[in-house]
Amino acid sequence: MKNIKITTIKTAIAELIAQASFNLPEDIKEAILKFREKETRSSAVKILDLIIKNEQIAGKERLPLCQDCGNTYIDLEVGPDVFIEDSANLCRHIDRAVAEAYKKNYLRMSIVTDPLYERVNTRDNTPALVTIRYGSRPGLGISVTLKGGGSENCSYLSMENPSAGPERIIEMVLEIVRKNVTKCCPPVIAGIGIGSTATEVVRLAKAAAFRRLDIRNDDKKYRMLEERILEEINGTGIGPQGLGGYTTAIGCNIEYAPCHMATLPVSVFLQCHSLRRAGSRILQ
Ligand code: SF4
Repeated sequence: MKNIKITTIKTAIAELIAQASFNLPEDIKEAILKFREKETRSSAVKILDLIIKNEQIAGKERLPLCQDCGNTYIDLEVGPDVFIEDSANLCRHIDRAVAEAYKKNYLRMSIVTDPLYERVNTRDNTPALVTIRYGSRPGLGISVTLKGGGSENCSYLSMENPSAGPERIIEMVLEIVRKNVTKCCPPVIAGIGIGSTATEVVRLAKAAAFRRLDIRNDDKKYRMLEERILEEINGTGIGPQGLGGYTTAIGCNIEYAPCHMATLPVSVFLQCHSLRRAGSRILQ
């Protein structure tokens, strides 16, 4: 068994938060550049250029990609050979790492305590949203994703009629896009969860929204549905920042799971282009 020290995990999380805050992931940059080539509207090209320029300045000057430095999602994948020191207090240690990284890098603290009444800033961007799962790969996988409030506000759940087919899913996504996409700084990534339960389908949509754009669906039917939805979203003409153009979305990912025969849960996450994610694996 590998004994992984808390200090190693905290250091890795702090580094990943900084990396994600200042640099767009390669797949997102590539997708923006790819869609820029397809754009015919000059104002849309200008906006996509500004997004790339913003990324270059952020990386060079170590400045946040967006003023909203987001909720901190931390996903851990624990390998079969891993023993984590003081695991009973793991979430507390992770929160400390998040607090230190936000303070050190001058990232905006955005989390409030009571959601309905006091809404007082916790002043350290905690608690982080931690998910721990067990996997078969050796070592400890750590993924950090920072998701802003505007993007979070574009999250939807619908319990559809079980007989609704793919056309209804397309219709539903397009309704959501037409009504809401301008609230989350398009171009976006449409993350769609289909199946499981009301609680779990939202996790599927989150996983879909956070998935790399160069990882396509294993299932041909779902892969074709992803491509069709992306095309339909870009057929709306809403464009970057809602100012017209082709590039309303740079990707569409679907995650699905078995569900009860009387249900068809569907969740849609419109993830803004500022998808800040970074990951690493601790092997010792
Ligand atoms: S939606 Fe995304 S790009 Fe827009 S303000 Fe929020 S985090 Fe920033």
